[in-house]
Amino acid sequence: MNIAILPGDGIGPEIVAEAVRVLEVLDLPYDSESALVGGAAYAAHGHPLPEATLKLAQSADAVLFGAVGDWKYDTLERSLRPEQAILGLRRHLQLFANFRPAICHPQLTHASSLKPELVAGLDILIVRELTGDIYFGQPRGRRVSPDGAFAGQPEAFDTMRYSRPEIERIAHVAFQAARKRNKRVTSVDKANVLETFQFWRDVVTEVHAQYPDVALDHLYVDNAAMQLVKAPKAFDVIVTGNMFGDILSDEAAMLTGSIGMLPSASLNAENRGLYEPSHGSAPDIAGKNIANPLATILSLAMMLRFSLNQPEAALRIEAAVTKVLESGLRTADIWSEGTQRVGTREMGSAVVAAVEAA
Ligand code: NAD
Repeated sequence: MNIAILPGDGIGPEIVAEAVRVLEVLDLPYDSESALVGGAAYAAHGHPLPEATLKLAQSADAVLFGAVGDWKYDTLERSLRPEQAILGLRRHLQLFANFRPAICHPQLTHASSLKPELVAGLDILIVRELTGDIYFGQPRGRRVSPDGAFAGQPEAFDTMRYSRPEIERIAHVAFQAARKRNKRVTSVDKANVLETFQFWRDVVTEVHAQYPDVALDHLYVDNAAMQLVKAPKAFDVIVTGNMFGDILSDEAAMLTGSIGMLPSASLNAENRGLYEPSHGSAPDIAGKNIANPLATILSLAMMLRFSLNQPEAALRIEAAVTKVLESGLRTADIWSEGTQRVGTREMGSAVVAAVEAA
């Protein structure tokens, strides 16, 4: 098992370090190598995704990724911004399917901004298409001056597009995932306004014919955003495009109380993948030992399950996280009266101890 470790920026190095400590105590045979990515790579090598980092990721069975981005890079031209590293990795590794589970741990029900009865037992899966849509459409509005300003340019534009094979393969992924869960898929689109998403709806419906055991319904994205806060438990698997998935998965994340709890996996057709927490680099809390490392540790569990074929190790990690939450330890983002506030490092140590004890 070859694992590429790309900690990135902000809280990335702190939270990835805790996940690596958990990996180390699992006693699995693996090789790993770390590399710079994002703003850290731009600062050292002038590019957010240097050739060496890309090669390392391409040769690995799986990539453990922290997060990239910092406000200090906001004025850079778009192609050099830290966030381009993640888009580049998705494109080069052909990571077309993003899995973002939104699970409300029973111990954290109160941390949600919704009433406990709306979120208790919540377990939904958002399957987001990652390589098409408006984020990759051509042509794109161009910045014309080197300092990144629009310099009097009269307009800018981005183009939304999806091809039939792109929609078909993500629809298959969603229906297959639903078969292992509650056998319901909700496809989210904007078919009433956008041609691209009328096409999406038609193709998803065609693919559904191969999955008669799975129920399919369609929702417009504005309605889906409302239903997610009104009755989130009504969903099982949500499949949607790149942009709507970006937004809805963050909304679903907040239903669970903290974005610091939610892992994600981005997979290609061979199940090789990139695993990262759902949140960003949180520059506001970087270097303070207060970030929650659990989303990254749970991303490691997803890596062991999906790309490295170690389902028992994945279960061991997930059980350890549950045990630690049951013991009352909380980082600041999930802390509440009566629980014990701990830092990033202490939370990592507690999970390591629970894994070792299992
Ligand atoms: P963010 O997710 O970094 O932070 C949003 C809020 O959540 C902040 O208040 C932050 O302190 C908090 N938070 C995030 N992760 C946390 C954790 N593990 N523990 C406790 N609190 C946590 O989103 P943002 O502030 O919009 O973006 C910051 C930077 O991250 C930007 O440069 C953005 O482009 C980048 N970003 C990167 C990724 C990625 O690397 N995949 C994803 C999203 C945003």
